[in-house]
Amino acid sequence: MSGAPVLEIKGLDVDYGTGADAVRAVRDVSLTLHRGEVLGLAGESGSGKSTLAYGMTRLLPPPGVITGGEVIYHPQAGESYDVLGLTDWNLRAFRWAETAIVFQGAMNSLNPVHKISTQLTDVLRAHEPSMGKAERTERAKEMLRLVGIAADRMDAYPHQLSGGMRQRVMIGMALILRPQVVIMDEPTTALDVVMQRQILGQLIELRERLGFSVIFITHDLSLLVEFSDRIAIMYGGRIVEEAPAKAVYRDALHPYSKGLLGSFPALRGPRRELTGIPGSPPDLKGMPAGCAFHPRCPQAFERCGVEIPVLSDQDGRTVACWLH
Ligand code: ATP
Ligand code: SF4
Ligand code: MG
Repeated sequence: MSGAPVLEIKGLDVDYGTGADAVRAVRDVSLTLHRGEVLGLAGESGSGKSTLAYGMTRLLPPPGVITGGEVIYHPQAGESYDVLGLTDWNLRAFRWAETAIVFQGAMNSLNPVHKISTQLTDVLRAHEPSMGKAERTERAKEMLRLVGIAADRMDAYPHQLSGGMRQRVMIGMALILRPQVVIMDEPTTALDVVMQRQILGQLIELRERLGFSVIFITHDLSLLVEFSDRIAIMYGGRIVEEAPAKAVYRDALHPYSKGLLGSFPALRGPRRELTGIPGSPPDLKGMPAGCAFHPRCPQAFERCGVEIPVLSDQDGRTVACWLH
């Protein structure tokens, strides 16, 4: 499924605030998204998933600051630039035409006083000024149809739609300029599990038809196992494991990944016992020494409390744990 790299994050560091009080929300994160790929990003609340997504698209709200790293975007083979070096003007174009984000809780951000069709055509009017009115309407209609909204609902107002339908509208809005990269930040947590799977399944189908790449963010690893090609798992602002989805499901290497898998019911395949992860996520202002997971890790040993494990390669997958 995957091709050449489209987005390469290299050694990204993001803080909230400065000095001794800074929250070190993302630490030395490197990730590559390939063309046509669905990359899942999982981790407990506060592990830095949204911060990473906002950082890589430069949408960080203050006091968020990128303190290191690069985000290399490849618009096509042989061309690349660092997103972190873009001027405001180019950044605006990059955000809309090349990447689109569906934010956490986005379905509540539709404008209540405008019809959904108007909200879609407004995006086109702002970003594709050469497009005529008839063409804009046609594109909006096509996009809504693709996300499963019937033509006769085009003129509905957001409050006339269910949560699932509003979520579909947001996905349509993200895709309307045909971006190469779509980032979805837990777009479905407010919806029931059946609806979540339906919407995700539809997104994957669209990905196959339209050819974009997806970064899908959630705390529910079992959803990612089913829908993504590769999975990266974050803990305390760092990536602790990255591997093909099947490998994570069959044989997660990092004790934290195993804990996450045991925290959600599997959607398919054999049932596993739900065990959860004892303890709570680390305080980013005062991270434990050594492996940040060691106070909660059932397999911790002496070295874990002293040295930070480095990510090491193991046949196409990486893991940061002294056991491996
Ligand atoms: P969730 O699953 O709850 O969405 P997340 O993995 O997306 O969590 P982030 O929202 O990226 O986590 O937060 C990472 C860390 O940064 C958390 O400790 C959070 O408290 C902190 N943080 C986030 N936004 C701010 C902010 N504006 N100011 C200070 N700290 C922040
Ligand atoms: Fe557990 Fe040690 Fe591995 Fe950290 S390095 S996950 S504490 S075994
Ligand atoms: Mg988040």
